[in-house]
Amino acid sequence: MKLLGVLCVLCGLGSTAVAIDREAFTFTKYDLEIRLEPGQRRLGARGKITLRNDSAQPQKIAVLQISSSLAWRAVKLGGKGVQFVSQPYVSDIDHTGALSEAIVTLPTEIKPKESVEIEIGYEGTIVLDATRLTQIGVPEDIAKHTSWDQISPTFTAVRGAGYVAWYPIATESADFSQGNSLFQVADRWRGREAESEFRATVVMSRGSSETPPILICTPEALTRMEEMGRAQPVSAECSWTRLGTITPTFVMANYFDQSKPPFYLFSLRGHEAGATTYANALEAASKFVAEWFGQPSAPVAIADLADPNAAPFESGTLLLASMAGVDAKLAEINLVHELVHGAFFSAQPWIHEGLAHFAEAVYRAQKQDGRAAALDFLGLHRATFLETEKQVAATPQKNPGQPLATTFDESYYRSKAAYVWWMLRDMIGDDALKQAIHRYRAADDKDSKYMEQLVAAAAKRDLSWFFDDWVYQDRGLPDFRVLATHPWKNEKGTQFVTVTIENLGGAGAEVPFTIRFEGGEITQRIEVRARSTATTRVEVLGSATEVVVNDGSVPESDLTNNSFKIAAP
Ligand SMILES: [Zn+2]
Repeated sequence: MKLLGVLCVLCGLGSTAVAIDREAFTFTKYDLEIRLEPGQRRLGARGKITLRNDSAQPQKIAVLQISSSLAWRAVKLGGKGVQFVSQPYVSDIDHTGALSEAIVTLPTEIKPKESVEIEIGYEGTIVLDATRLTQIGVPEDIAKHTSWDQISPTFTAVRGAGYVAWYPIATESADFSQGNSLFQVADRWRGREAESEFRATVVMSRGSSETPPILICTPEALTRMEEMGRAQPVSAECSWTRLGTITPTFVMANYFDQSKPPFYLFSLRGHEAGATTYANALEAASKFVAEWFGQPSAPVAIADLADPNAAPFESGTLLLASMAGVDAKLAEINLVHELVHGAFFSAQPWIHEGLAHFAEAVYRAQKQDGRAAALDFLGLHRATFLETEKQVAATPQKNPGQPLATTFDESYYRSKAAYVWWMLRDMIGDDALKQAIHRYRAADDKDSKYMEQLVAAAAKRDLSWFFDDWVYQDRGLPDFRVLATHPWKNEKGTQFVTVTIENLGGAGAEVPFTIRFEGGEITQRIEVRARSTATTRVEVLGSATEVVVNDGSVPESDLTNNSFKIAAP
């Protein structure tokens, strides 16, 4: 592949003695043309990026990073080549475990808040590479199901920052072996880029005799392609006016197209049964989503992955998931998630993604296997943020936590948020929550308390304490225990139990508790604020034997201290 204006000036690695602030610049705009040569597993890119100095100091050096399997060919400013040093930079933010950095000396200093447009060219190969996982001891045959990005003659799927730096980024080194460091670096990048504009035209060069594959980047681009007719060169527009939580991703294969716009479905040969499972789930899932979130306003797409064991991945309204041997219930909830995105949008990750994950749990409860199954499903989410929250609770000075309202940490805005919506539903009921969701307008969501106001108005209840503990602040998790029970009878012989529940944690919640008695059980709910106790009395129809607090619907830090045996009188 020939790139125009190759003006790479290599001048050794000795000139980087000045401390470099790799995260000084935010990349506010991308305008790229990507050429794929799947036969050679190659990618060639050129285009323009706009960098804004978001640091407090003027910057003379800009760092541009791409995957270590790609090489810089050109860096220009205003049509003129500029001096840059190309060097490898070890970082697990890329699947290869390293990046190719261009350390660019800018002709003039860029002052804080000023921007600079840089023209760039780079190329190289993207092959399956699980180095960053295998080097920390993950067996290769497991690692490749997670690290499945590649360009190949038969199947191409490449995810962006955090997986493969196929467009330039600028981050401090991330290390998989250092706890959460990789996720922290990737989350920080996502947060910095949330308001950025991204446009990449991905084009495949191909011989005329081959069957043209389908190249997918966004469902919106598929809609446009359909309008134009399919007699176009194989290309896809990856365009977002605001990236939000999206990871620009493209996928290309000889897909079977079973789309029913605005729902797009692309499957691979041999995965027909799975594709049919998705197609069959569409009607029920659509009906459910419409009740909660309204009619679809944006297209959504699900595209197959070649590896039957590949971990699924979502970017915006595109879900990549293997359709080989897919379980019908899993297909349903995957579909529910994507359809929520097609019907409902919020620029706030905890609302946008949190509600989509919440909807999966509600579907589990109402259309599949009931509440207990839904709580088990949510329990998988709990595991993702439990350790972080324990650290927030144990060492708040060192780990101040991250408010749900502003976080770009996926375990929070997906998993913790799913619980927050579930708890709100338990507190105010389906109808009130649906009403709040239906009244939500992304364009009106300017005040940080907008969502709280909608929910409180629908519920006719003050929920400011709840939003404060769970959304506006990160106060860790609750930790409930049954502090005391007291069985008694009134003068008519009616049996009661007085129950005192203590919350040892930093976040309050309304939590269910169940009293087991001879011949049955009764479940009630009680509001227990942070580091407080609450007492209530419950009528029971037999001698009480046990009280259990929290059925799993409130994520708490310790579930081992939740039951209390009542001694026989
Ligand atoms: Zn989603």
